[in-house]
Amino acid sequence: MNIILLGPPGAGKGTQARHLVETRGMIQLSTGDMLREAKTSGTEMGKKVAEIMDAGKLVTDEIVIGLIEEKLQSEAGAGFIFDGFPRTLAQADALAALLAKLGQSLHTVIEMRVDDEALVKRISGRFTCGNCGEVYHDETKPTKVEGVCDKCGGTEMVRRADDNEESLRTRLMEYYKKTSPLIGYYYAKGDLRPVNGLADIDEVTASIEAILS
Ligand code: ADP
Ligand code: ADP
Ligand code: ZN
Repeated sequence: MNIILLGPPGAGKGTQARHLVETRGMIQLSTGDMLREAKTSGTEMGKKVAEIMDAGKLVTDEIVIGLIEEKLQSEAGAGFIFDGFPRTLAQADALAALLAKLGQSLHTVIEMRVDDEALVKRISGRFTCGNCGEVYHDETKPTKVEGVCDKCGGTEMVRRADDNEESLRTRLMEYYKKTSPLIGYYYAKGDLRPVNGLADIDEVTASIEAILS
């Protein structure tokens, strides 16, 4: 079963994807994480995308489609969770073609609905564990012991360079211009299932579980 988590920056895609990985053994494919990895590893591609990402603009379709193609060919498990991909219609078409080539299809597109005001709060309080990637929030999901990851005991917490209000404004604009048309696209295909992303993390998880089972 392959699914897409669709929603604006801060909607909770990464948080819910990690849960599905733990409970269902699915594979999370986050183009944001892949690009950040490329950025820190200092590859040519990483250097090329760093500035674009920090400004909150979308990286070219060619680059992200290439990253996804590589992963689809090299990993296998109980289905893929596309987190932050596709973000344009061209990416959506490319994904359909890649899955078809592998004899696979898309099961559901989960649209995580959150209003813009909540996103500012989500993004400005977000931090992650530098060791295992667990996602936290200053107010809604703090670590049990300050500065120590609940999951792995790691003590290096990371805040993203693009998690500031100015970059968020650009990211939201990019979302509305280029990504939100995907809602209509998947609705017309009959694959779209909306969930209320404003509910508590556990409630959102329950809504997604209800859709998938
Ligand atoms: P968020 O968690 O806020 O939704 P991501 O981690 O998914 O953000 O993405 C961070 C940045 O990486 C984006 O602002 C964009 O620059 C780049 N990026 C990630 N995925 C894509 C994609 N599918 N297409 C283009 N750019 C992408
Ligand atoms: P995305 O991957 O869509 O950008 P994240 O999963 O990284 O979003 O979540 C953004 C921030 O909001 C994180 O700090 C996370 O802990 C927090 N968060 C996620 N889901 C919820 C929720 N349902 N209620 C409150 N806070 C949430
Ligand atoms: Zn950790």
